[in-house]
Amino acid sequence: MKKFTILIILLLTFSISAQNTSYWQQHVDYKMDIDMNAENYQYDGVQLLTYTNNSPDTLTVVFYHLYFNAFQPGSDMDIRLQNTPDPDGRMVNNLGTKENPVFESRIAKLQANEIGFIKVNSLQQDSVDVKHETIGTILKVTLNKPILPGKKTVLAMNFKGQVPLQIRRSGRNNKEGVALSMTQWYPKLAEYDFEGWHANQYIAREFHGVWGDFDVKIAIDKNYTIGSTGYLQNPNEIGHGYETEKINLPKKKKKRKKRRKKVEKLTWHFKAPNVHDFTWAADPDYIHDKIKVENDVTLHFFYKNKMEEKYLENWKILQVKTAEFLSFYNKHLGQYPYKQYSVIQGGDGGMEYAMCTLITGERKLGSLIGVTAHEFAHTWFQFLLATNETKHEWMDEGFTSYISDIAMKEVMKEGDKNPFEGAYNGYSYLASSGIEEPQTTYADLYKYNFAYGASAYNKGEVFLAQLSYIIGKDNLDKTLKKYFSDFSFKHPTPNDFIRTAEKISGLQLHWYLTEWTQTTNKVDYAITEIKDKEITLKRIGNIPMPIDLRVMYTDGSSENFYIPLRMLLGNKPTKATQINDWSWTNPTYSFNTNKTVQSVEIDPSGLMADVDKTNNTLTLEKP
Ligand SMILES: [Zn+2]
Repeated sequence: MKKFTILIILLLTFSISAQNTSYWQQHVDYKMDIDMNAENYQYDGVQLLTYTNNSPDTLTVVFYHLYFNAFQPGSDMDIRLQNTPDPDGRMVNNLGTKENPVFESRIAKLQANEIGFIKVNSLQQDSVDVKHETIGTILKVTLNKPILPGKKTVLAMNFKGQVPLQIRRSGRNNKEGVALSMTQWYPKLAEYDFEGWHANQYIAREFHGVWGDFDVKIAIDKNYTIGSTGYLQNPNEIGHGYETEKINLPKKKKKRKKRRKKVEKLTWHFKAPNVHDFTWAADPDYIHDKIKVENDVTLHFFYKNKMEEKYLENWKILQVKTAEFLSFYNKHLGQYPYKQYSVIQGGDGGMEYAMCTLITGERKLGSLIGVTAHEFAHTWFQFLLATNETKHEWMDEGFTSYISDIAMKEVMKEGDKNPFEGAYNGYSYLASSGIEEPQTTYADLYKYNFAYGASAYNKGEVFLAQLSYIIGKDNLDKTLKKYFSDFSFKHPTPNDFIRTAEKISGLQLHWYLTEWTQTTNKVDYAITEIKDKEITLKRIGNIPMPIDLRVMYTDGSSENFYIPLRMLLGNKPTKATQINDWSWTNPTYSFNTNKTVQSVEIDPSGLMADVDKTNNTLTLEKP
């Protein structure tokens, strides 16, 4: 633990010195005591929050997220769901047919004892009652005393929560029967950064949180096993597979005089240093396996013992693969800084959290490993490199998809498979769909779920894969490592990433960030003419690119050419024959070869996301 703290301090010191000194970020420490009633799914909480204002601003209000309030009829999430043309299938019932669907919001049907809520019973600032108001999923607190720059305040809250039926991510009794998936379950302070407060209503997409330390005690029926964020402080008292020494459990009495009405509880004590969220899941039927892997990291696996045999076997195989993913991400991105990571069966698909993931578990082996590869990669892209996902969803989903697709190829030994094929196909479909919105769209505000998904995951992944085409793969690999070492434990922005790529490659790249993420412009180049030794190309799409060309000559030989893009003011490392640069202002470009040309192909690597490939090759008929 001590070593770990020193590592964090070193990391922070190093990264602060490596960047703009005007950067600041807020800090919050949570102390929570939770008493969970696993029978009626309600819990009482005491939360002590120490908030440090590192901003240059004086704060007169603070905001919290009360995410569980979204799971109530009439909430913004419910109304949004009812007005989305292609709602998330997990959140609706289809009363029609597949062809003619009639969707019904599952939230709208929740009964009083099935909804989610967080009710604030009392709130004090530095021991004095403070004015607060719940507005949907947001709690607005008007402070008694403003928090001056550099100062702290302590906010003490008593609250009551109810875990909703599982609709999206969190909830009770998911479809695989996991009792409690406790994500976004506590009053969570909203982030305040250089753009101000990020206190948006929860309608299902993406998060942004404040870095800090968590100290959480959870009292729950002693039959439940908890998997969570953070390190368990009392493993030998708890047992449940956490014990570090052999413990003698009290022998069961043969006969009890009376059935005890009061549920016996265990109080689990967790600490999580330097994270921006805290998640847990609990079930009486969890198997809990753990394996020790490189750098003294322990991987924990929690999965239900009531699954079919084939699924249980998959969960065993998954454990070795998860260790391989850790090695892969450590090597290609940077060292995982915690000593624990947990893969927990729960939720409704796969979702990333601090030091853990919740995934559904009744999956074929490939799917189980694939979802774990993806969620684990989120520890780097989104958790440690904590971009504001509500604004830059493509940076967390796209970058995660990029690295996890490469990791899957290596770990699963997929041979020559192009790991980006799915992403390019998905982007291509989006680009021709007519409903694409620019990636600067707030995650919540995309009209179509499909367009959001394809933009965040596929177009975001293509952003990186295509960047390797522009700056070269080695430069991209170095950029990712440098980006991680400079910006982990922070909230990097798109500009931070592209500046890192510029510094590593020595190329001007701002135009690429703007064109790709702030517009729906496309890349489309064509070969328009071959005349003996002269080749003519045309730029049809708005987005300019440097061009790799493969030319086949009539004598059977071939030559690769590289046409630099003038606005890069430099070139990627290449072995191709470099010819005159091409400025974006000119729609056409011609050059001469030394031999008679038979055929020409633009970008044989396929990494340039050209939306019309039909005009990328031209072959002259042999005389
Ligand atoms: Zn993801």
